[in-house]
Amino acid sequence: MLSFDIRSLTEHAVTVDDVLSVDDPVWQDGDPKPAAPVQVTGRLSAAGPGRFYWHGSIDGVVALSCSRCLGDTKGLVSDEAHLIFAEAGTEGVEDDPDVFLLDDRSAELDLRPAVREQWLLNVPGYALCRDDCKGLCPTCGAELNLGSCAHADQS
Ligand SMILES: [Zn+2]
Ligand SMILES: [Zn+2]
Repeated sequence: MLSFDIRSLTEHAVTVDDVLSVDDPVWQDGDPKPAAPVQVTGRLSAAGPGRFYWHGSIDGVVALSCSRCLGDTKGLVSDEAHLIFAEAGTEGVEDDPDVFLLDDRSAELDLRPAVREQWLLNVPGYALCRDDCKGLCPTCGAELNLGSCAHADQS
């Protein structure tokens, strides 16, 4: 469970220990998708009136394309989370990019959009299917991991 009752959060902190599933509706078209459920852990506690603090981590594996041969590969996504959630209207939070505003129609604090955002910030921009991936021939596009092409000797 990654949603927490706000009223009970004001009374006691909670342990966060769950996964965000691969097919959760929080993921949007075009997101680099996890290859397995994302582990979400930590502690969520009140941090003053209308404010909550999540200190924890996300850990997962993202499905990527190899930067050299464009084949399927995977990358690790791992980050510490130190995030503030605040009710809209709390003083000083409206313009703070580090603060997630709570939906004031909801009695729940939902960590999932914050997890998604942390995920997107930490997906590696470069990945190799293997350290010695030979990539594609720049002339004919042949995948050189599968064998050399007519242009291999010219490089
Ligand atoms: Zn590759
Ligand atoms: Zn070639």
